[in-house]
Amino acid sequence: MAGPSDFERATTKEVRMSAALPNEPTFRESVDLMYNRAVALMDLPPGLEEKIRVCNATYTVRFGVRLRGQIQTFVGYRSVHSEHMEPVKGGIRFASAVNQDEVEALAALMTYKCALVEAPFGGSKGGLCIDPRQYDEHEMEMITRRFAYELSKRDLIHPAQNVPAPDMGTGEREMAWIADQYARMNTTDINARACVTGKPLNAGGIAGRVEATGRGVQYALREFFRHEEDKAAAGLTGTLDGKRVIVQGLGNVGYHAAKFLQNEDGAIITGIIEHDGALFSPDGLDVEAVREWIVKHGGVSGYPAANHVSDGATVMEEDCDILIPAALEGVINLSNADRIKANLIIEAANGPVTAGADDILREKGVVIIPDMYANAGGVTVSYFEWVKNLSHIRFGRMQRRQEEARHELVLTELERLDEAMGDKWNLDARFKDRYLRGADELELVRSGLDDTMRIAYQSMREVWHNRDDVTDLRTAAYIVAIDKVAKSYRAKGL
Ligand code: GLU
Repeated sequence: MAGPSDFERATTKEVRMSAALPNEPTFRESVDLMYNRAVALMDLPPGLEEKIRVCNATYTVRFGVRLRGQIQTFVGYRSVHSEHMEPVKGGIRFASAVNQDEVEALAALMTYKCALVEAPFGGSKGGLCIDPRQYDEHEMEMITRRFAYELSKRDLIHPAQNVPAPDMGTGEREMAWIADQYARMNTTDINARACVTGKPLNAGGIAGRVEATGRGVQYALREFFRHEEDKAAAGLTGTLDGKRVIVQGLGNVGYHAAKFLQNEDGAIITGIIEHDGALFSPDGLDVEAVREWIVKHGGVSGYPAANHVSDGATVMEEDCDILIPAALEGVINLSNADRIKANLIIEAANGPVTAGADDILREKGVVIIPDMYANAGGVTVSYFEWVKNLSHIRFGRMQRRQEEARHELVLTELERLDEAMGDKWNLDARFKDRYLRGADELELVRSGLDDTMRIAYQSMREVWHNRDDVTDLRTAAYIVAIDKVAKSYRAKGL
């Protein structure tokens, strides 16, 4: 897929929702509060505790682009939180309300996220203050290339030092421009394609990157539902089949998560919240049809097959089993946390629950699968893409046919034995087809992502269940991640 439908859309209304949080710490302070909560239960030397928490550097750039006959100035950021591993990694966000506090919070989350899922990167994040809907494609290309030029010349885009990716307001198209801009500036760099991930397939991308974050949310939920003890903590039983799910934000992440949960796990999507209101239907919404409507009409208003609720945020407070905030930070905050009825919240967005709301929800017994784990599918598949770019070969190219040949050998032998025994087995034709087929890149990517999500979940739940002083998955996630970062620093002699 290409074009605006790939985007995590950042609308001015959503931006207002996240900014209007009186009496609450900023996003970065909120991340620090959560970090401090975990660190208080660890045994780190105070100096290291601070070293890991603080953001190493944030670069601010103001550049001009001549558009429609006059120069327009844009403000952009690239923040590097921790370089305990290089390159550092994290998306670039295009939204009107991007600011230094936000990119620093997001960069910190990238550090912890990469550590938790064992993607060998430090944490970084970028942002450009822009409403992409105000510009046409050619203008967006000029602005993006100029921003990429400013970052590249300071090695803030670089295959070995800093590798951006898509985030809210950006997608494959922007990543292709960034990759090309870097290649133009570094004509002899054989690894130029590895300077950014989330590229289209024809520009060095990898199969399954667009769906990756949503797919990761699905794999995370599947893993959660494999553990009786964990389901019991959330007051849930059974499987995902028939569970009522509300999704806030049907951008790239929310759409893929909702679609996969509906089509492959039998979940019922009862609510979809967008910037112009929400759709609610206890019998379930057709995710694909709603998405098509949004792409065509710019929002959910007017969608014929469900009730439209103009104050969309109130739908987050409806009764449901699973709530998936998949848009902006701070949407569950002190003003609405006590009215949330979901048993389980899975944070597909970064920072959707403020530190204050987290306290309230924990008290209420709501289980939260935290952002640094829940949305790590994106960076995990980015890692695979980066490795693919550095190895200059598509995954599966060497093994696929060899794998098929070996499977063929087994099947031929089984059939020979069956014949010798008088045709008793009658092998199913569908099994034969499926068994014979060697894995292509998409299958390998999904398998690697599934494995990553399972292992990371198990590392969190072990801390959650085995330590009396840890009562929630977020603190457990921070402890696992911080411990890994601390070990890297120690190995460096710090
Ligand atoms: N922007 C995504 C995130 O927040 C992806 C980052 C990446 O792939 O580097 O995790």
